[in-house]
Amino acid sequence: HIHPTNHPRILRASYASMEHSVPPLSDKSLLKNQTYVNGRWIDAKSGKTFEVHDPATGKLIGTMPEMDAEDTEEAIKAAAAALPSFSKTTGRERSKMLRKWYDLMVENADDIAKLITWENGKPMADAKGEVSYAANFFEWFSEEAPRTYGDVIPATVPGNRVYTMKQPVGVCGLITPWNFPAAMITRKIGPALAAGCTVVAKSPGETPFTAAALAELAHRAGIPPGVVNIVTAMKNTAEVGSTLTASNTIKKVSFTGSTGVGKLLMKQSADTLKKLSFELGGNAPFIVFDDADLDVAVAGAIASKFRSSGQTCVCANRLYIQKGIYDKFAEAFTAKVKNFKVGSGYAEGVTHGPLIHDRAVSKVEAHVQDAVKQGGKVLVGGQKMPDLGSNYYQPTVIRDMTDKMALKNEETFGPVAGLFPFDTEAEVVEQANSAEVGLAGYFFSKDVQRCYRVAEALEVGMVGINTGLISDPAAPFGGIKHSGFGREGSRLGIEEYMITKMITLGGM
Ligand code: NAD
Repeated sequence: HIHPTNHPRILRASYASMEHSVPPLSDKSLLKNQTYVNGRWIDAKSGKTFEVHDPATGKLIGTMPEMDAEDTEEAIKAAAAALPSFSKTTGRERSKMLRKWYDLMVENADDIAKLITWENGKPMADAKGEVSYAANFFEWFSEEAPRTYGDVIPATVPGNRVYTMKQPVGVCGLITPWNFPAAMITRKIGPALAAGCTVVAKSPGETPFTAAALAELAHRAGIPPGVVNIVTAMKNTAEVGSTLTASNTIKKVSFTGSTGVGKLLMKQSADTLKKLSFELGGNAPFIVFDDADLDVAVAGAIASKFRSSGQTCVCANRLYIQKGIYDKFAEAFTAKVKNFKVGSGYAEGVTHGPLIHDRAVSKVEAHVQDAVKQGGKVLVGGQKMPDLGSNYYQPTVIRDMTDKMALKNEETFGPVAGLFPFDTEAEVVEQANSAEVGLAGYFFSKDVQRCYRVAEALEVGMVGINTGLISDPAAPFGGIKHSGFGREGSRLGIEEYMITKMITLGGM
């Protein structure tokens, strides 16, 4: 049995018996029950729908079309039909469209944030932060669209002139997860459209309403019919996925989600030799050296570990704390976690919402129980929160973690921080790099040489030094090893959606 020494404060806020009132949207036409293909709002051909439930209460939010292979083919056809004219628009024209879409996201930020909190559960403050982050990808790529330069290359062969130009890769299939219902989509659609591609985006089954609201804003922004198409499915997800990967019309698939599904999609894409970008799972090491600033390290750990209740792919998963600072860190970190307020994302003052579904709660529970069985000590949390609902788990800190525990080897994707003690820099770098995945890594130190050394030694795609927050549309986001390949955001993001064509003119 787990006996936490302290429970986090629980804010029951305004809802009685698990009810909460969803604040009304100022623009009700942003809440859809159909999806957007070829510039029109449609149902599945079969007429089938799936239900989406509020993770905070379990109550029905609404339904969306359960699309199948045939519906997906229709969306691919629409994207293919739109490609010839859209790919010939100038970068400046596409820039203006993306900028308009960005402006509309900013104007409607509150409504989009309400939708995110409704279907994902994250607190409104986090949802507003996500809308701003998501919109910034449209702003960023609206600025990149007119600047897709090629090269003029001095030829080796006399009389030849050699140059390269960038061209859109073609129709793209995009698949995104529920943990950032807006940002994961804009991070792909932004660069795809900037490059001159058209897209078929499969929205997450758990969070299709935010995606639909974004499509409504695309329509209002004047994005031509067929350029952005959204496919919705819950039960038929695998069928939609294999239709996208098998299609010869789709030239590129960009996927964000779990490593397991990424591997499946890569196998499925072999026959059509697609260009691929994969942003997959992480298991981020978060290292605090003895020479770190304790307050900065604690603040970084709170932000990195507990943002969105630990449901981000760049979340700190393994917290390695050097022995000289271990007890002090454990105490200060736990004190902060005790101040969290767990509850409905709409309630004033709530810092942490529910998890996405009860399967997520079960995984968290299994990781905690496994750690406790092997000698881990719970400093705070360690329990489900049935009074609030079936999707809630207490923010949890466990000390005395060891190597064999499940939390070390798998991404927990929940609000549990496990503290692993270590002695030396060499030992902790080896531990950090022992994971199969390599997305983000963090460390805290005031020693300049160590900062360079450890940053270069960590086997990850992104490093945070003395910070727990690294996402920035201007910076390349992506992983190595089993965390995938390809980069999103930054000047590299648009490259993923273009080919480099080499042209040789002879006989000069
Ligand atoms: P998931 O892989 O189950 O689902 C992701 C998306 O893929 C969803 O839209 C889902 O409907 C779809 N999908 C599932 N099976 C499919 C199939 N057979 N064919 C086609 N599509 C399919 O992942 P999840 O559990 O929803 O999301 C959490 C995972 O995503 C975590 O592992 C997390 O680390 C990862 N993630 C990674 C990043 C990143 O940038 N690296 C960002 C966010 C989340």
